[in-house]
Amino acid sequence: KTKDHAAEDKSAEDEAADESAAATSAPKHEKDFYPYILIGAGTASFAAMEAIREKDPSAAILIIGNEDIGPYMRPPLSKEMWFNESEETTAKLSFKDWQGKERNIILEGKEKIDTVDQEALDKIESAESGVKLLTGTTVSDLNVAEQSITLNNGKVLKYGKVLLATGGVPKSLPVLKGAAEGKVTTFRSAEDFKKLHALVQSADKKIVIVGGGFLGSELAVAISHYGKGKNVQVTQIFPEDGNMGLVFPRYLSKWTTSQVEQEGVVVKSNSRIASTKTTGEQVELTLENGEKVLADHVVVAVGIEANVELAQKAGLELDDVRGGVVVNAELQARRNVYCAGDMTSFHDVTLGRRRVEHYDNAILGGRVAGQNMASDKLHKPYKHQSMFWSDLGPHIGYEAVGILDSKLSTVSIWTKKPTTTAAGNAEESSSQEESVAKTPVAEKEGKRERATATPLPAETVKVEDKEKYNKGLVLYLKDKKIVGLLMWNNFGKVDDARKILGQVYDTEKVEALVKPFGIHEE
Ligand code: FAD
Ligand code: NAD
Ligand code: NAD
Repeated sequence: KTKDHAAEDKSAEDEAADESAAATSAPKHEKDFYPYILIGAGTASFAAMEAIREKDPSAAILIIGNEDIGPYMRPPLSKEMWFNESEETTAKLSFKDWQGKERNIILEGKEKIDTVDQEALDKIESAESGVKLLTGTTVSDLNVAEQSITLNNGKVLKYGKVLLATGGVPKSLPVLKGAAEGKVTTFRSAEDFKKLHALVQSADKKIVIVGGGFLGSELAVAISHYGKGKNVQVTQIFPEDGNMGLVFPRYLSKWTTSQVEQEGVVVKSNSRIASTKTTGEQVELTLENGEKVLADHVVVAVGIEANVELAQKAGLELDDVRGGVVVNAELQARRNVYCAGDMTSFHDVTLGRRRVEHYDNAILGGRVAGQNMASDKLHKPYKHQSMFWSDLGPHIGYEAVGILDSKLSTVSIWTKKPTTTAAGNAEESSSQEESVAKTPVAEKEGKRERATATPLPAETVKVEDKEKYNKGLVLYLKDKKIVGLLMWNNFGKVDDARKILGQVYDTEKVEALVKPFGIHEE
């Protein structure tokens, strides 16, 4: 299994449906009709395209995207790309993966993708078997009754099945609106990477990153690493107590901040920007506490909004709570209209309705949508649990499944007991290095909850020792059920985690539960 080709278990129902899949001889189509149109040339569309072609080998597929390049991996843009040893590798948009293998961010699979422009598309008399990619083109309308779409040049195309995989749009911060044009940007695409990289490359820059979530934290560490020796200073500003504060339990979030700081980042937690002004070539940010921070460039990483513009105009149902288009477990919004990836609010048969903004969800969801699009008899539910991962500097790497929300109760199991300095509620570090330490840092609906083991308030954790949280597991609980698992510096256990998801948590059985995670083994 790989992250970019996360395999699905092929069930008997798939096999049966394979037989009923469309005929292998290429049918003749009317002009401007495509049996499959995939809107958004991103990760989810790529996975859907491959799944459709597996089930329907003669399928004529048109992918339409408004970026200049075809589907690519975004994850290296905030991680590996900044760690490249040579600028030539970066210029090619290549990177070294964690195994040391050089790869390009462009997604490649079995299918040949034929890139066309609008002029070439106009000349096609009848869509033929194969995959066409129309780049630099926005789909401006979807008509679900007519089964048609309109391109930004006014051209109308008809579809048999359509996939909406339009991803997300980075949020902006109103307080930064006044700053000079081009000095404050968001970060989502390969183009954004190229621009920011060129800026940091020119040395002596002060970069401010606003946001303490996945993107802000990864970018802060990555740019700080890249900027070493170039006199680049990275400052990160966010309202939470620590990095990844909305995701990790509080003590772990604070410890993560200490590690981000060790990478040279100046972290301003519990901070918000009150006002901004342009001073010469720089932007001056005034924080709510009155402190001023100067920046040559500000990167805003304060989350995304599901990109539902097209879906909304088409009258599809939207999820008011989570954002995104509401689909059923088969990833269908309406007859012949499917959704996958970041913009999809789907029914997770184990964990309830969700919207997930991670790569593997786009791959797995895209695959299921594609399979269902290619076979009217399949009705396959999306029930394979996606995973996500991140790296934050040399000492932090993690993989996770399910719901990771710092508001939930958590139970943490670490290879070593964290030592604390607080009197009263601190447990001395055991001489047994490999003992299991349960550190329940429970904050349920704002209230701290006393759990079975010694509570460990975040502010009592001394964080000078990088060994402290070197390998562990955090369980996230909701209504006594395990709804999320975070595997900290503990890789290759995602399948074990999937088996546990949804189970009732029982303190008595915790040793057996965590056995597959090898917390005792080093
Ligand atoms: P996208 O990949 O965003 O693709 C949607 C595409 O549709 C875009 O190209 C968009 O321009 C296009 N589009 C939108 N509207 C239209 C329209 N009307 N017409 C034509 N085209 C349109 N996840 C992880 O799990 N691990 C990571 O380490 C990780 N790192 C990340 C790093 C970065 C810098 C970013 C930005 C994201 C990262 N993610 C990571 C998240 C992951 O990349 C996304 O979840 C994933 O890309 C979602 O895929 P998608 O197909 O839904 O959307
Ligand atoms: P996020 O949702 O992870 O984090 C949002 C952050 O915005 C919060 O942690 C908070 O610190 C900050 N924020 C919110 N309001 C703010 C305010 N008023 N002032 C300052 N900060 C504020 O989103 P992101 O980090 O921007 O990431 C963008 C997208 O890319 C997400 O979909 C994310 O999942 C994805 N991504 C994922 C990975 C990964 O899975 N490893 C890596 C990078 C990006
Ligand atoms: P795999 O099938 O899990 O991964 C295949 C591909 O996915 C890799 O080529 C890589 O590009 C990507 N990938 C996987 N984990 C990643 C991560 N944590 N960060 C960035 N990219 C990642 O490969 P496998 O050989 O079966 O590996 C077994 C396990 O070891 C995996 O779970 C992997 O995550 C883990 N691992 C991770 C790291 C790391 O994060 N730095 C290092 C070594 C091993």
